Amino acid sequence: ALKYYPDRSFLIYQNSLEKKIQRELDIEEHLPLAIKNNELEVYFQPQVNSEKDMLIGAEALLRWNSKSLGSVSPAEFIPIAESIGVINKLGMWVVKEVARQTKFLGLDKHKDIKISINLSATDFKNEFLVEEITYILEIYGLDFSQFEIELTEGVLVDDYDYVKPKLDEFQMNGISVAIDDFGTGFSSMTHLKKLNFDKIKIDRTFIKDYPKSDSGSIAEIITYLAKRLDINVIAEGAETKEQVEFLRGIGCSNIQGYYYSKPLSASDFKEYIDTYFLNKEQI
Ligand code: C2E
Ligand code: MG
Ligand code: MG
Ligand code: MG
Repeated sequence: ALKYYPDRSFLIYQNSLEKKIQRELDIEEHLPLAIKNNELEVYFQPQVNSEKDMLIGAEALLRWNSKSLGSVSPAEFIPIAESIGVINKLGMWVVKEVARQTKFLGLDKHKDIKISINLSATDFKNEFLVEEITYILEIYGLDFSQFEIELTEGVLVDDYDYVKPKLDEFQMNGISVAIDDFGTGFSSMTHLKKLNFDKIKIDRTFIKDYPKSDSGSIAEIITYLAKRLDINVIAEGAETKEQVEFLRGIGCSNIQGYYYSKPLSASDFKEYIDTYFLNKEQI
């Protein structure tokens, strides 16, 4: 006779789904208190020109070390922050912290080092987004042109009509605009034509498997496209010398990746900059 076995795969599925939901609920519960509890930190990942061996910028990346949940990746908590309506607060906290650190680290004396900040789709729903950011930078006496905002194509897909004027407004203030994770969205080409990006960031997926299972052809084509359109280009996620050399060979000398450095805490970044400038003086 046929025996009945409960469907194990369904049970496993149900278990992992419950875990996933519980995790989201935990994050929803603790995230709104993260600022107050001093659990957030801004890290900086250096951006280097591989040809000139020059520090050209740094991307600010948010870190959350929760007292109850341990460290939670922004890839996990940013989408939840958007859905529970705390992203604007987090976003402005990041801008303030970046401004404060830019002063504290003395980066404001090196205006050629560009500091970039990620914005999410929900940030653009804030009518006063540009005003709030420029206000913070002004309070700290910083030059707008030292800053750059990053947005992904996803931000543009649904909300083009109100994102576009904000991008113009950023650029009119001297803040540059980079398109992040380029090539992973759905309508990259349309947006490139309609918008005036200052920089294209080639997504890590087009670099990480080179040369094992990727010839680098997409990275090459994106670099070519950027050159033709006269837009700056930088590659995200280069981890090996081979990848950096390949990228340089195709004309993409600007690199943000573990090969040069992981994202660093402000104090580690300070050490990084101090060593960098000390070495430069000696040459
Ligand atoms: P993103 O803006 O594309 O940032 C680059 C991500 O790639 C960072 O992950 C960085 O640590 C990682 N990365 C850079 N180089 C390498 C490499 O060589 N190898 C590997 N494996 N990874 C590399 P992170 O810090 O975990 O951030 C994930 C995403 O979370 C960011 O992707 C961004 O979309 C979002 N995010 C981070 N901070 C903020 C923020 O302040 N505001 C908003 N709205 N989003 C943020
Ligand atoms: Mg980014
Ligand atoms: Mg990216
Ligand atoms: Mg990303």
